[in-house]
Amino acid sequence: MSIRVRGPNGKLSSLSYQNDSLQITNGSTTTVPLRQVLGAKRASRSFELSYLRRNKTTGLETLTGILPDEVTDHVADAWIETLLHMAYEGMGVSRQRRLKVVINPHGGTKKAVGIFKKSVEPIFLAAECTLDIVHTTRPGHAYDIGKDLSLTDYDAIAILSGDGLVHEILNGLAHNLHPIKALATPLAPIPTGTGNGLSLNILGFDDGFDVCVAALNAVKGLPMKVDLCSVTQNGKRTISFMSQAMGLMADLDIGTEHLRWMGEARFSYGFLRGLIKMKPSPLRILIKEYESDKEKMFEALQQRKKNPPAATKPADADLESTQLPTLKYTLDDEEGWTVVQEPLLYLFAGKGPYVGRDYMSFPVSLPDDGLLDIVLQTTNVSRVELLRNQSAAPKGLVYWHPSVRYVKAHAYRVKPLASKGALAVDGEIFPFEEFQVEAHSKLGCFLSPFGYYAAPFERHTY
Ligand code: ADP
Ligand code: MG
Repeated sequence: MSIRVRGPNGKLSSLSYQNDSLQITNGSTTTVPLRQVLGAKRASRSFELSYLRRNKTTGLETLTGILPDEVTDHVADAWIETLLHMAYEGMGVSRQRRLKVVINPHGGTKKAVGIFKKSVEPIFLAAECTLDIVHTTRPGHAYDIGKDLSLTDYDAIAILSGDGLVHEILNGLAHNLHPIKALATPLAPIPTGTGNGLSLNILGFDDGFDVCVAALNAVKGLPMKVDLCSVTQNGKRTISFMSQAMGLMADLDIGTEHLRWMGEARFSYGFLRGLIKMKPSPLRILIKEYESDKEKMFEALQQRKKNPPAATKPADADLESTQLPTLKYTLDDEEGWTVVQEPLLYLFAGKGPYVGRDYMSFPVSLPDDGLLDIVLQTTNVSRVELLRNQSAAPKGLVYWHPSVRYVKAHAYRVKPLASKGALAVDGEIFPFEEFQVEAHSKLGCFLSPFGYYAAPFERHTY
């Protein structure tokens, strides 16, 4: 079905939809996937269509014009309704999402406010989203937003900052009056921080830093249930969605904090610096192991990508619960845990393949297997090899290196045996003291275009 619209230059454009796309013909033809269609409306005889352009640059594109006499109001309205139905409900998405928008003016290169005004807000408005916008004014503000969030007013939370603010909001949600229901609120990161690992995991390497694609995901993404982890230390429980690092890797996250101005490059710099020292980390590590066969874990990843499950709501009882899921493991429980014997350069554990653009640390991580992935870098590797592995890090190929032990686990526990060292949880500094981490199946939710982590990963032989 097609209609025609007369543009401001007097030329007629013909608009038609078929299968999964909208065709705009005026001399040449532009094909817009329906997923990129944001809105269409008529006011008297004026017509407006908006969509996300994706060629050399991404951005909001608006086509406006006057309907010629042949296109009656009735015909235009029916055409618009069918288009919007296909572009939203047909894809399992409801229109006019109500978004809580949290903007950290301080994140990354401090451009979030401008980026929101210029690129993100116009996309939200074209999609007729309802916006409740908050600018964070201090560290801890985002935690309070999560803690006090109304659980009936929003369809999703869009977060303009880096991974740090996501961590804060999740921990706030975990302290909401109804934590399980609160944590089921879908989050959509819009990458304006320094470390935007979550955005990379959701949108992939090419789009992971594209704020317009991220805005589209907030409008059109489907809820993807994800496991979250509890980190317990000194009786205090913290929710971690991404990573815990100790040893060489921790230097990477924290030791380079003063090098913030370097942006992502600081991760590589920290790695090299740690490498020069190449000190094994004195740690006692216990793992409640599930799988450590690299081939099997690789195969499970392929299967999961083929069958992304639809997101389910928490059970009714959980929605009302005022408690987080109870912890399954206590610190004195050692029955059925594996003790790691060999010396390690670092331990790195978490959820989600990428931690940064230059490092895919957990390539076989699955959003919802109820497990966390652990990388144990043994000392069974030369400095040269480690450096060479660095170049394979963006594609996650280090996974296949024989000196890397890779374990999927229900939980793990670490006790530092030296007084000096570093621990980073989701990139934030924590005391260098004994801690335990366990995964909670499907406790969190992110919006996703795919229903799985967008990180292609292949076999490799060393
Ligand atoms: P980046 O990747 O740039 O570090 P993050 O989102 O990881 O961005 O972290 C941003 C940090 O900024 C968080 O720790 C948060 O508490 C803090 N923060 C949020 N709002 C403000 C503000 N108005 N002033 C200073 N710090 C803030
Ligand atoms: Mg950060």
